[in-house]
Amino acid sequence: MARILLNVFSVAGRHCVSIGKMAYRIPFNRPLAGPRAIKNLTEVCGEQHLSGDGRFTQQCSAWLRRNLGVGSALLTTSGTSALDMSAILAGLQAGDEVILPSFTFSSSANAIVLRGAVPVFVDIREDTLNIDERLIEAAITPRTRAIMVVHYAGVACAMDPIMAIASRHGLIVIEDAAQAILSSYRGRPLGSIGQTAALSFHETKNISSGEGGALLINDPAIVEKAEIIREKGTNRTAFARGEIQKYTWVDLGSSYLPSEIISAFLWSQLEIAEELTAQRIALWNRYHAHFAELENTGILRRPVVPEDVVSNGHIYYLLLPDQPKRDALIAALRAESINAVFHYIPLHSAPAGQRFGRTVGNLGRTDDLSARLVRLPLWIGLGDDVDIVADAVKRALAR
Ligand SMILES: *Cc1c(COP(=O)(O)O)cnc(C)c1O
Repeated sequence: MARILLNVFSVAGRHCVSIGKMAYRIPFNRPLAGPRAIKNLTEVCGEQHLSGDGRFTQQCSAWLRRNLGVGSALLTTSGTSALDMSAILAGLQAGDEVILPSFTFSSSANAIVLRGAVPVFVDIREDTLNIDERLIEAAITPRTRAIMVVHYAGVACAMDPIMAIASRHGLIVIEDAAQAILSSYRGRPLGSIGQTAALSFHETKNISSGEGGALLINDPAIVEKAEIIREKGTNRTAFARGEIQKYTWVDLGSSYLPSEIISAFLWSQLEIAEELTAQRIALWNRYHAHFAELENTGILRRPVVPEDVVSNGHIYYLLLPDQPKRDALIAALRAESINAVFHYIPLHSAPAGQRFGRTVGNLGRTDDLSARLVRLPLWIGLGDDVDIVADAVKRALAR
């Protein structure tokens, strides 16, 4: 055990950019791995339970249920796994259609395609970069089964209108809340509104365990099915609770539960998630204040957070007037050893999106906004370097 702990300590204590990537003075992301994580990892190494659903996993699930107001929360190996589970739970069949934005990560659409269903892309809103709820109804066909919303940057989609459309047409709503832990919409935590929701604990997200995720379930009727899917199609979870005498293969499933080692690490951040979120929001606000003047003079646009939304400060992005200006800004920052990045190549124009998906209407805003967006470094511990990044942006745009 001594050797294992030594490795854990040296990894957790090292504060540099990963091997193989260029070392930036100010990296885009720096994962949080401090003494709390080391304490929990030391504890878990001393316990006789390293596979899933031990005490750390249970503590994390209980925290998610309590703080996000959901009936059930199952930790998963990734946000992607939670989306895959959501698609199975939605009962998607070959040829079914799911409406979603094109401005998102591949995992949102993969979950649909893996069921043999078709992702149907619609355009996003100019202000939040979230799915434009006014375009959803025109994309509904007799094959439509679900709407997958993505709360981009931790800012909520217009959930009341979207839930109303879903109930009018008998559709399931899946929340890709990968970026949205502890954000809310009209007082309701994101992840607590759709049938299911996926959280991600990837190292770039607000709360992380390197890789990791959670499936949040708001429909009590599918909880047992979700437990079975997560446990390789067996009813082992019910067995572990002592509800049945033996467990067996009962349905479709895969291996979606994380080990206790992951959950022990995750718990070190989840138990102080409110504090970490507050720190992140403070950094976000500091960037926002820096760029007020440049927005007033029309040099750039800052992120928009609607009145009825509380954001967790997940991403700080800027919108430049055009793609050449965006690319030039990224290059200027790189020259100062600051790593700013862009995303996403819209899924409808990506090779797999063209093969598997279809679009409804014009996706002009998706194409335009994604080409002009730049994400600035944002991580716990960035501190006064926010001012260095902001000053570098101002200098680059003054040229
Ligand atoms: C990060 C992310 C995912 C995938 O989460 P992983 O934990 O990396 O699998 C899915 N959707 C969105 C919008 C994300 O930002």
